[in-house]
Amino acid sequence: MENTQRFYIDGEWTDPIGTDTLDVVNPATEEIVATIALGDEKDVDRAVMAARRAFDGYGSTTRADRIALLDRIIEVYGRRMADLASTITQEMGAPTSLATTAQAPSGLVHLTAAVDALRAVEFEERIGTTTVVHEPVGVCAFITPWNWPVNQIAAKVAPALAAGCTMVLKPSEIAPLNAIIFAEILHEAGVPAGVFNLVHGDGPTVGAALPMHPDIDMVSFTGSTRAGVEVGRNAATTVKRVAQELGGKSANIVLDDADFEKVITRDVLGVVVNSGQSCNAASRILVPSDRMNDAIAIAKAATASIVVGQPEAEGTTVGPLVSQTQFDKVQRLIQTGIEEGGTLVAGGVGRPAGLSTGYFVRPTVFADVTNDMTIAREEIFGPVMMLIGYEDEADAIRIANDTAYGLSGMVSSSDPERARNVARQLRTGMVHLNGAPLAFDAPFGGYKQSGNGREFGKFGLMEYLEAKTIFGDNDEPGPAVNSGRQSV
Ligand code: NAD
Repeated sequence: MENTQRFYIDGEWTDPIGTDTLDVVNPATEEIVATIALGDEKDVDRAVMAARRAFDGYGSTTRADRIALLDRIIEVYGRRMADLASTITQEMGAPTSLATTAQAPSGLVHLTAAVDALRAVEFEERIGTTTVVHEPVGVCAFITPWNWPVNQIAAKVAPALAAGCTMVLKPSEIAPLNAIIFAEILHEAGVPAGVFNLVHGDGPTVGAALPMHPDIDMVSFTGSTRAGVEVGRNAATTVKRVAQELGGKSANIVLDDADFEKVITRDVLGVVVNSGQSCNAASRILVPSDRMNDAIAIAKAATASIVVGQPEAEGTTVGPLVSQTQFDKVQRLIQTGIEEGGTLVAGGVGRPAGLSTGYFVRPTVFADVTNDMTIAREEIFGPVMMLIGYEDEADAIRIANDTAYGLSGMVSSSDPERARNVARQLRTGMVHLNGAPLAFDAPFGGYKQSGNGREFGKFGLMEYLEAKTIFGDNDEPGPAVNSGRQSV
């Protein structure tokens, strides 16, 4: 890959000003696959200035211009999909099956949802004699994580392009290579110079400089709550719009009338997708206390069917964790779960048999967990889940809501109306009933410490628009005397 040592600024690949570099490590082999350049504040400034200049033109393009541009991006993205998938596998360890069917295609799904939303959105509305005009926010900064890397990039870039914004992206320094391909796609599709800029960097340098830059109008951040708080704090000094997609500790309520065999098997296998490195993984599985033994047996059998292995190997369902840091964190939390009294139903500390190299961990299920234990409160971000008993429906809802997070949740029942009624009582941005998948044209985002704002489709597009209110109708003369009603 030729552009690892350069940044994409003002329509070209340019040499960085910052002098640091970082190795990108394949988490399955622990081998270095590339070395990227890391930027500094001066690189950020160059990219922001390019985006600011480009906004003068791109901010006033027509809807038709932007639809045509997004259609071209969709076409080029389709051609680069296989590259994206294999790169994501190399840099963050997603099994090929997941990278080709979900990780890489998710970017295309966001581009398509954004162009559909752009076709439908009303940029002007009337309220009586007042006109409300929806205008692009301006220059945006995007800071993204490594776990669903191109998904999170496209979930920001696609609606921002649709809205008429210009932008600077700082992708995760852990999995940055897919972002280089993404930039190449935008370049080939003819995105005008300066509209999209890419600067690599770490959190404390480039990640901190973007929210503080006075020429940025909005920051959209996806990552940990810790870093999201820092971004909010840095953005506050210049009163920016801030969107935050943060961590989660989602609950999965299995109601007593659910088909336990089907639901628990499906949901155990669901938690370990992407090695459990999904912000919305429903890792707290809530089951009626008097059915706990059934749940344990089913969860144990389901875990035994998981194939942990090399990402490229056929049949692998779970690859490695992304890094040594994540490996150490997950090991520490499994150990903490044992020390705090959790009973291991499957997995545990250490590596799976036969996998001594790479950041592989054992899919782990705990029973006898109460909601106050560390493993039930902290986001683990690994293939680790816990069975928690509840007394009745109200108790299940109470436990589900007893968390600082509010991203997602699941409810399963043979009675859809009952499941929906429980969903309404959860303080989360999203709830999946009976294993329903995400809809990419519906809002994605969290309550509480899981974030602010919504991504995807129409709701995602609206985040990148300001509302300008124009009082008065040209056809109606204003009052001859100031009535004082222009002030509040
Ligand atoms: P992270 O917060 O460590 O890093 C995310 C990004 O923020 C990276 O680009 C990083 O360089 C940058 N960053 C780090 N410190 C920063 C700072 N002080 N200022 C500005 N930027 C900074 O998170 P991660 O480990 O890459 O990703 C895992 C986390 O992301 C999990 O907590 C997960 O729940 C969350 N996540 C949330 C969603 C969502 O939509 N809610 C989606 C995916 C991941």
